[in-house]
Amino acid sequence: MRIKHTIFAALASTLVLAACSSGSDEPAVSDVDPGSFPANSTMARLAEDGKITVGTKFDQPLFGLKAPNGDPEGFDVEIAKIIAGELGISADNITWVQTVSANRETFIEQGQVDFVVATYTINDKRKEVVDFGGPYYIAGQSLMVLKDNSDINGPEDLDGKKVCSVDGSTPAQNIAENYPQAELVTLDTYTDCLDPLRNKQVDAVTTDNVILAGYVAESEDEFRLAGEQFTEEPYGIGLKKGDTDFRNFINDTLEKSFDDGRWETAWQDTAGQVLPLPDPPVIDRY
Ligand code: GLU
Repeated sequence: MRIKHTIFAALASTLVLAACSSGSDEPAVSDVDPGSFPANSTMARLAEDGKITVGTKFDQPLFGLKAPNGDPEGFDVEIAKIIAGELGISADNITWVQTVSANRETFIEQGQVDFVVATYTINDKRKEVVDFGGPYYIAGQSLMVLKDNSDINGPEDLDGKKVCSVDGSTPAQNIAENYPQAELVTLDTYTDCLDPLRNKQVDAVTTDNVILAGYVAESEDEFRLAGEQFTEEPYGIGLKKGDTDFRNFINDTLEKSFDDGRWETAWQDTAGQVLPLPDPPVIDRY
């Protein structure tokens, strides 16, 4: 009797441990029958395969940053896990591909990724070649300078100043079009702009406030955010143009996650460590 009891207790604690380690900090994975999705849909194919390839950023703290174990972490990464989970795909069956600002549309068009979650602003120009689910967050363009720089506090202070941003990004395009007195330098990624800022080869870095907030949080002694946000950047999930079923599925999943707490948990575990909890945005079912 006693032996039986001990065995049972040991078994029970193993089960508890297993439950904790498998599900504690990953979004829920649904038990999905691939046949429940429309035949030949992207959802049916992905659920049948049990794996998915997602494009995200690898160098942006809070949203998409490659961790020492090789997997990225951040709010974008958690959003991708929520979508995958709704297809019955667990986080360890996601293949993460680094997408930089300039190659997101190409990677989607060429099928190198199933979707992109990468601080990716929804806009009409991009909608000519890809579709978007979302938005799942609304950011805004801002500026970052060295901590001891008090001259720059908004885009109107950029005249004659060198400002670093990234090829193929909306902040770079905005500076080029609307602040022509600024001298724009574009590189591949935002981290590429950090050393030039440190070395005073550029005076400011510009992109979305939340990306810059991640760099400031990592180096508070070096950098500061300069002024308020001066654009609206609604973040969407980029997918193949014309795949309306998949877009509707992504939008339905996002809305569900707004209501059942998964979106809020994703925020609190990542960007919410530094930034206040926003209200979930209204999904744009264009
Ligand atoms: N949200 C902007 C964009 O999609 C800037 C951030 C980025 O480059 O990823 O262009």
